Amino acid sequence: MKQQIKRLNYLLVKHFGIPDRQKKLPNPVDALIATILSQNTNDKNSYQAYKNLKKKFKVWQEVADAPRYKIENAIKVAGLGKQKSAAIKNFFNQLKKKKGRLNLNYIKKLNDKDILNHLTSINGIGIKTASCVLLFSLDRNVCPVDTHVHRTLNRIGLVRTASPEKTFYEIDGHLSDGTAHQFHTNLIKLGKEICKAQKPLCSVCPLLKTCKFKKKNLAKIITRESENFLLLDSI
Ligand code: SF4
Repeated sequence: MKQQIKRLNYLLVKHFGIPDRQKKLPNPVDALIATILSQNTNDKNSYQAYKNLKKKFKVWQEVADAPRYKIENAIKVAGLGKQKSAAIKNFFNQLKKKKGRLNLNYIKKLNDKDILNHLTSINGIGIKTASCVLLFSLDRNVCPVDTHVHRTLNRIGLVRTASPEKTFYEIDGHLSDGTAHQFHTNLIKLGKEICKAQKPLCSVCPLLKTCKFKKKNLAKIITRESENFLLLDSI
């Protein structure tokens, strides 16, 4: 598994390059809230919702104290306002109850497994959100698995899994040091631009020779869109 991931990562970096990262990584609470906002929408809408939230409420304590509908109003551009505002309120309530404060700085000294267990013990926080905190805020060598990462890795044949969570556990621990961010980000680019859900553009795919997907679409492609904005590298 480790060698296969190394090879895939090499081909993806050769094609897409090494993705940029911000010098100052977001704190864990910021990354976690942004990830909640990103569910089922694109990065631009969730970034706008994140900015609206930060503009309306000066500190997270104000969000924690606000009635849920006010949070819902602030984040509506990201969709699913009711569920996302409830998840945010619930997260702050539980954090306050468990730790008596609204920050996650204490997790920095824990190992990856303990952080995953700790964060997912909070209702409404799943493995994807927890792993995004690990990668984007704490710079741990962990690859979060969203719908694009899950779909592409299954098509390529690296895993045969029924859910993003199962894919996460299959590949976790098999990434060479320092490669998780590039592997995660480039797989998302691959999924958005080339290995699209409905119709993959296999003729322009850098993984064509390696990929085991049986229903490849080898039609000639004239143009394709490129999307470089990624929420968690922008907050
Ligand atoms: S060859 Fe086609 S199916 Fe395979 S990863 Fe590339 S785009 Fe996806």
